[in-house]
Amino acid sequence: MAQPYGRCEDCGERLYAHIEGGYQCLNCGRRYAAADLETRTA
Ligand SMILES: [Zn+2]
Repeated sequence: MAQPYGRCEDCGERLYAHIEGGYQCLNCGRRYAAADLETRTA
């Protein structure tokens, strides 16, 4: 599985790359768009 990427805004758990694109919190299931997270990386 891909490296964790950021944290969930709902529960604070780590996010993982989703097979269909973007990222997902494995704890609560919230999905995030890749572009949404990448803008915060810098
Ligand atoms: Zn979560």
